[in-house]
Amino acid sequence: KKDVETYINKTPESKNKYEIANNYMPGGETRSVCFHKPYPLTIEEARGAYLYDIDGNRYIDFLNNYTSMVHGHAHEHIAEKAQFALKKGTAYAATIPEKIQFSELLCNRVPSIKKIRFCNSGTEATMFAIRAACTFTKKTSIIKMDGAYHGTHDLAAWDSRYNTAVFPKNISQNIYVAPFNDSETIEQILSLHADDIAAILVEPVMGVAGVIPPNEGYLDKLRKLADKYQVLLIFDEVQTLRLDIGGAQEMYGVTPDLTCMAKIIGGGFPVGAFGGKKEIMNMFDPSKDGFLAHGGTFNGNKVTLSAGIATMQLLDIDKIEKMNSLSIELENKIKKTVKQSNIPVTLTRVGSMMNIHFTENKPENYAETLHSNKELIDILHIKLLNRGIFIAPRGLINLSTVMTQQNIQEAGDVFKDALQEMMPLL
Ligand code: PLP
Repeated sequence: KKDVETYINKTPESKNKYEIANNYMPGGETRSVCFHKPYPLTIEEARGAYLYDIDGNRYIDFLNNYTSMVHGHAHEHIAEKAQFALKKGTAYAATIPEKIQFSELLCNRVPSIKKIRFCNSGTEATMFAIRAACTFTKKTSIIKMDGAYHGTHDLAAWDSRYNTAVFPKNISQNIYVAPFNDSETIEQILSLHADDIAAILVEPVMGVAGVIPPNEGYLDKLRKLADKYQVLLIFDEVQTLRLDIGGAQEMYGVTPDLTCMAKIIGGGFPVGAFGGKKEIMNMFDPSKDGFLAHGGTFNGNKVTLSAGIATMQLLDIDKIEKMNSLSIELENKIKKTVKQSNIPVTLTRVGSMMNIHFTENKPENYAETLHSNKELIDILHIKLLNRGIFIAPRGLINLSTVMTQQNIQEAGDVFKDALQEMMPLL
């Protein structure tokens, strides 16, 4: 209660804005994850590693628009490239040099991608990858992991997370859902239904569900099962591309048939892309009879691609390693606090992505994340906001390349303070 009072005292203008916004948008927002209690902040400006709200409060941004702002905000070089593109006309129904340059860059970075198509979101990327898999294999179902986030289209969204939504008829018949890190269930499903299944769709590291890493050998086992039962393996690397030059597939040494991307490749603008084996992607070639159509008015527009190229060119291995080592530092600081105080907190981390869970044990799948105490996460979230640290309401934390040791020191101190204050509640 005291934390809510502090929050309201610190953010009166955000409160006013929320009251107006709520008249026009349900929950005063246009994206479910941007809502948190008692009301979301209104951000005036974002620069580097910081967000500034309309009340003049500064926050270190450990959310980075859910991992997408890998170089922080308003990065000078990226902004310059986007501005240059703006002046050249932003979107026309024709090829542009940036499309060719970026497709080459991404195919070189992620060698399993022989050919690629751009779209406008990760949602579209997974939707088209599923369509490509079904068309290529002439089968109509997919296997996906419970609680995985692949965007908002029906096939992506149908699982235990969306238990309040009503879906069009028969959607559920096209989806088999398995827990993450459980290849036995997948083998069981395949042994019964492989004739019907086009692909296994998986995030190599579950992101939004709580940064859950794959157990050793799990992804490799999925590759083997996909080959054995003649289904495709689709990696959703929308979040995990930031983990290595060639994404999680390079990090774990497992090669998918198709890959979905978004977030960082747009340099801060709406984007998606999917690509993979030539024989699959060539189905989209409109010079061939019976090709697979792929529309999207703003696919591969000049501003997005110019910013995306600049972003990916800047994201070299040194920057990735710098983010990773700062993440380890933050993880160690939080762990130290947790250890000293016996708080039931577990951190999961892969590279520059981590998640805080109020559980004794590391979750290995989505169902296990539900053991995390939701109320405590909410309390920690508001305590962090009141002290200038911005993370996801559900505990997702990630770094950007512009963060400094000082940011980590500050965040470590704030976590310590906030968690220690929570001790009497635990
Ligand atoms: N796939 C994953 C792994 C994601 O994390 C997201 C978004 O958070 C998506 C797909 C959907 O991307 P978008 O929000 O661009 O539609």
